[in-house]
Amino acid sequence: MTYRVTLIPGDGIGPEVTRGAQVVAAATGVAIDWEVIEAGEPAIRASGTPLPDTVLESIRRNKIALKGPITTPIGGGFRSVNVTLRTELDLYASVRPARAIAGEGTRYPETDLIVVREATEGLYSGAEHWVDREHTAAETANVITRKASDRIVRFAFELARREHRKKVTGVHKANIMKTTGALFQTAFREMAAKYPDIGSDERLIDNMCMQLVKKPSEYDVIVTTNLMGDILSDLCAGLAGGLGVAPGAVYGDHVAVFEPVHGSAPKYAGQDKADPVAEVLSLELMLRHLGEREAADRIWRAVWEVISEKKVVTYDLALPGYTNRPVPPSTCSAMAREIARKVPLVDMSSPLPRPAVPESSPVSDTALETG
Ligand code: NAD
Repeated sequence: MTYRVTLIPGDGIGPEVTRGAQVVAAATGVAIDWEVIEAGEPAIRASGTPLPDTVLESIRRNKIALKGPITTPIGGGFRSVNVTLRTELDLYASVRPARAIAGEGTRYPETDLIVVREATEGLYSGAEHWVDREHTAAETANVITRKASDRIVRFAFELARREHRKKVTGVHKANIMKTTGALFQTAFREMAAKYPDIGSDERLIDNMCMQLVKKPSEYDVIVTTNLMGDILSDLCAGLAGGLGVAPGAVYGDHVAVFEPVHGSAPKYAGQDKADPVAEVLSLELMLRHLGEREAADRIWRAVWEVISEKKVVTYDLALPGYTNRPVPPSTCSAMAREIARKVPLVDMSSPLPRPAVPESSPVSDTALETG
């Protein structure tokens, strides 16, 4: 079977880390026909727009994409390509596992969390305007709907059940945001009552941040609204080893896009310096989604081995104070090649290093079989 998958290299470090993921994908033996489509800055150069229709058409056709990060201009310019992709394709569930790998790059080696973030509304809706002509005041719309809240909370409880997770924590700010926050809170409470086999609790976002840095092991699956999830998932990435090792996926009912938590890190673009692991583990999540469990397990084991050996790791895992035994940093491409080299060699009979990883998603259609 050959899977046709849309590949969006993206901006900044995106082309380097997606190339690394392709090298690792090739080592698994899973046949993937990559349909490479540019979005972001290369697309602006080629066609004058950061998100040509061909990108959406390709993802709709293939139903699955592996994506690099895309730069969003700050304080002006075009609307975020990421936000447009998620809303156009109704990719509502952003899933960001934070799994410490071999205790490296983290003070919290037990970290094993999944942040589930609503990805189509909230403070990301972009409905903003100036209140006065002088631009001394501005307003933004925090759109929270019952429909979107119900489906993201249901997604989180279903994920918890499938992954044998014990607890879902609903995160909001309902004490201050007495309509939007309360709406999400009500959706959470009513859904929690339908899943008596899964524990549930609630935290206000500010307290959640403090609790996470104090005792992350007390949390399991976290579900929250768009902006809060964006912030919390970077925090959780930090707990688990940093943005360089934090994978992610956004799911709709028929389409899924796999992309790291990190952005385009422009200051490292073109230097072959970035950590490819977040993109490689996003590939791992993609392969699980496709049902290619052995290939996904091989990648997870290979990443684990490479990081624990500390012979070939990028700068973020080689910083003094962050590893037990600092080493000179390797390049992005060397680390990807080392992971790929290990993929066919890993011992599949030894226990799979925990923490666990999402095995499945609610997406009903898988990628098209093309051969
Ligand atoms: P960023 O995630 O790009 O980088 C922040 C810092 O994290 C970097 O300076 C670097 O120190 C570290 N880092 C990130 N990825 C790394 C990797 N693979 N290996 C090693 N270190 C890594 O965040 P930013 O600088 O705030 O954003 C840059 C651009 O990316 C912005 O335009 C932003 O809008 C965009 N962005 C895109 C996405 C996406 O496409 N999904 C996500 C987040 C940010």
